[in-house]
Amino acid sequence: MSDSVDLKGLLGDLDNKVKIELESNPEVVEKGDALDIEDLPIEARKWFKLDDVVAVVADLKNSTRLGTGKRAASTASIYEATTGGVVKVYDRFNADFLAIQGDGAFALFWGENRYERALCAGITVKTFSVELSKRLEKKWPDAPETGFKVGIASGRILVKRIGTPRNPAQQEPVWAGKPVNYAAKSAQMAERHMMIVTAGVWKKVQANDFLAISCPCGNGPSSTIWTDVDIERVPEEDPEAQGKQLVSTWCETHGAEYCDAIMAGKRKRDDVTDVRKAMEQDQMRHALLVVEQQQKTDRSARRRGMN
Ligand SMILES: [Zn+2]
Repeated sequence: MSDSVDLKGLLGDLDNKVKIELESNPEVVEKGDALDIEDLPIEARKWFKLDDVVAVVADLKNSTRLGTGKRAASTASIYEATTGGVVKVYDRFNADFLAIQGDGAFALFWGENRYERALCAGITVKTFSVELSKRLEKKWPDAPETGFKVGIASGRILVKRIGTPRNPAQQEPVWAGKPVNYAAKSAQMAERHMMIVTAGVWKKVQANDFLAISCPCGNGPSSTIWTDVDIERVPEEDPEAQGKQLVSTWCETHGAEYCDAIMAGKRKRDDVTDVRKAMEQDQMRHALLVVEQQQKTDRSARRRGMN
């Protein structure tokens, strides 16, 4: 049997496929909130649409430099410890889909409690990341600093299996849409042990006392654990680019209790009344500022118009 490739034929086939794809839109099947991966089409030009999917991406900082100078076995065990750990976290928080991507991993959550599961998974990864990097740095003091950077985004997704029909080893579901892309961009922008969420995700987080406000330890309860961040790689005109970064990790004392509360769908704490009041005032001040800015812009535009 010859291994030679009919290159001309292959390129001709590819071009023909592109032509057919572009001539008409594929069929889109509304799946709402429910999807079974097993049902994903492979041959049919048919995509499944999910209304709201939450994507969590964990990216390992300096991963490409970790292996240099070490024996292959060391590099291999780093992957097992890091990526293997993240996969375990995603699984514990009932990810609906997960995949290893480069030196990190991403998970998708849809259906019930999707934001709660995704956020708890993200915070657990960044908490794990702190201890993980301490151990790696102790063993290899000269290695570059490392740790996971986490990004979360949400939105509509189209999905289909793409690859070679009848060969599962050459197939992969493709998740088309903003969530995975924006979550990856958010993760890339974050520092190690940090988590960045897009504006849409923040809206959901904001209303939950257990997620938005720190525990009573240290200077808490406080809302300063989340700070504003422009997700630069997301197009500026997309409101999703106005993200928030979470600094803190699960607290030794309160982490388990808060995680349980979030997963159980609880949202209200009785020790945050003052913090909530201050947050509301802050929002009001911010809204007023935006209005004032707009009026100023309108006035100068009118003035320019008169000249
Ligand atoms: Zn605490």
